[in-house]
Amino acid sequence: MSTPATVRHHVLTNLDHYLTELEEQLTAKGGKVVYLRSVEEVADSIELLAREKGWPLPADLRQQMERLEPGVAEYLLGGPREAGGSLLLAAGELRIASAAYLIAEAGAVCLIGPPADGAGPRMQIVVAGIDRVLPRMRDVAVFLPLLAGEGSVQFLTGPRRAGEWDGPEELYVYLVDGGRIPLLADPAKRDVLRCVRCGACLSSPPDGSPVVCPVGIDLENIPGLLRRELPPETSGWKYRLWGFVMRRPRLYEFAGRMLRSFWREEWGVPEPPAKSFRQTWREEGRK
Ligand code: SF4
Repeated sequence: MSTPATVRHHVLTNLDHYLTELEEQLTAKGGKVVYLRSVEEVADSIELLAREKGWPLPADLRQQMERLEPGVAEYLLGGPREAGGSLLLAAGELRIASAAYLIAEAGAVCLIGPPADGAGPRMQIVVAGIDRVLPRMRDVAVFLPLLAGEGSVQFLTGPRRAGEWDGPEELYVYLVDGGRIPLLADPAKRDVLRCVRCGACLSSPPDGSPVVCPVGIDLENIPGLLRRELPPETSGWKYRLWGFVMRRPRLYEFAGRMLRSFWREEWGVPEPPAKSFRQTWREEGRK
């Protein structure tokens, strides 16, 4: 029986095969597949296409792009979660969306997000990490429950064909390496690429019981493995200070209060919530 873990393992050990199949199927239906190394290259390519069409783009395109296809290990390290992001640009002519999955057999793109309205944009660009491919359409059913509640599910199977009343006139699929190929080559870290960004590991139970990853990533050991590779300036005194504070609950709570009082937008980190978890816990009487 297919499980999320077995499908992801199979895909990662046969990635070249499924990427080739996806490209062949998409191209046969009129889609265009572009391989890119980074989100910066994605932004360059979008700017080039928009310039050719004479479509104006927002000045902060690159910042907006960053929320579409974040780094691979970001979720394991507690980064932001923006699955299913999409941007509508150039007065509705161009939509850029991050794919939830790509289906090799069908040459299809699975998007999860707000429901599509009307005939959609003239050009659709889908951005996806190279690891987002699934072999068969039936595999999508194995993964969708992990992203339940994210929004409506849409499938794109190429640009609009003669006689069809909706769909983009042009479809580009940008397949982004974004650091995945070196991870794939490293047996100790390859499993990180199994992540489907379900978000389960971002909300550890307050009782400290372990989170079970649906695709079998070793959540106990991989974050430590990645952390050991940080340069000395980020693994030295800052982490020792953090560890010191973390082991002292009252000091930790005090530090949290200070952080909320003095938080500044220019730090570029998400604004902390107005109340700490401990405050909410106490107020709800669950000591
Ligand atoms: S639980 Fe596993 S699949 Fe889900 S976000 Fe965490 S690492 Fe990724």
